Amino acid sequence: MFDQVELDREFFAALGRVDAKIAGAVRDDGCGRCGGRLHRGDYARKPRGALIAAAGEALVVRFSFCCGREGCRRRTTPPSLRFLGRRVYLEAAVLVASVIAAIRGAGRGTGREVGVPPRTLGRWLGWWRGAFLKTVEFVTLAAALGLGTTAAREAMPAALWAASPGSAADETVGWIARRLAPLTTSAVVRSSVLRAVL
Ligand SMILES: [Zn+2]
Repeated sequence: MFDQVELDREFFAALGRVDAKIAGAVRDDGCGRCGGRLHRGDYARKPRGALIAAAGEALVVRFSFCCGREGCRRRTTPPSLRFLGRRVYLEAAVLVASVIAAIRGAGRGTGREVGVPPRTLGRWLGWWRGAFLKTVEFVTLAAALGLGTTAAREAMPAALWAASPGSAADETVGWIARRLAPLTTSAVVRSSVLRAVL
């Protein structure tokens, strides 16, 4: 199934358009601390796509804002479908490489196949099977998809991938990315703001 994973430029352009919409909604909502006006303060990023999401490496801006109010100036980085926290790899690359590593092991063979060092793959699996399981997003997904069992938790994120609707890889990546959006940033964004866009 992963021989057919093809995440092309149009796929990443579409994710980028959703990110822009999310950013617009977050900006309109104002600073989460003081309600002040948010000003554009994007980060230039050079994301890695490994062998999975190379087409997404051209996208180099992560939307971000700074509060304009004197004495606050808090930074707000909106949730994203392209970036997963501060990781240098695109979320699509982290997800697909982790799923493959969960199925085939995080050894050298998998590392070569996906273009990610085995140590990095091991770290990612540790996150999916550790901190990720404690997030609200996982708990919600687990309830909806029946992923609360020990077997499912130990098979993350392959169990999540297998339980997701949609057959094509790009559909699955997009579906999961939408559900994980809130945990892609430490900024607290009101769920109603995100829901209106996603
Ligand atoms: Zn503020």
